[in-house]
Amino acid sequence: MISRTPSSGAAIGRTRTLVLAGIAGLLAACGAVPEGSQHGAPQSAPRPAAVSREAQICLAGLGESGSRFSPLPDRYYGAGCSTVGAVQLSAVRGDRAELGLANLGPVECPTAAAFAGWARYGVDRAARQMLGSPLMRIETMGSYSCRDVAGTGRRSAHARGAAIDVAAFVLADGRRIAVAQHWAGGSEAEREFLRVIHQSACKRFATVLGPDYNAAHRDHFHLELAAEGSGAAFCR
Ligand SMILES: [Zn+2]
Repeated sequence: MISRTPSSGAAIGRTRTLVLAGIAGLLAACGAVPEGSQHGAPQSAPRPAAVSREAQICLAGLGESGSRFSPLPDRYYGAGCSTVGAVQLSAVRGDRAELGLANLGPVECPTAAAFAGWARYGVDRAARQMLGSPLMRIETMGSYSCRDVAGTGRRSAHARGAAIDVAAFVLADGRRIAVAQHWAGGSEAEREFLRVIHQSACKRFATVLGPDYNAAHRDHFHLELAAEGSGAAFCR
């Protein structure tokens, strides 16, 4: 009895060790895939409890549009600045190819969704029809920025990641059409292209500001879903 107990205990111990070793081996064997995805997940996955139904619907729609993005966790920076229900948008779908994006930080999902629609149906199509080349990339001056509307004490939509500043459009043939250079100084087709896509942005965004609005917008289009002040659409 005394001599058998330790030996059977040792046998059980060995069995457990073997089972654990087997599980560890299995985990190690399939480690490559889950481990890789887990690395990206914690930073990009939203906390499930914090995601509203509205946000879920927006994210689903953005996915269906063919956009590539990562949902971002809600962040509050203080001083009236936050990014809630925001995504990091890395590419949107064009008619024939994916459209790259440059310099865009966190953007509220509804703004990202409107932008994706404009990029494809407004900009990519206009580029082909008016300039004879598909769009390849949109260069922005960013979205989130904790600041006021210039000359006011009012927080800008940028302080919520709810506006995007767009600076230039790179075509598949290598041409780069920039608001700063081509709004006034481009060829007739380039100037017309910029005016047409500025107008088409007004169908999707309630506030669209460009070089004709003021000097602060001489080098970009400001795109914002919300209407400024009065609530009426503002397209300048
Ligand atoms: Zn802006």
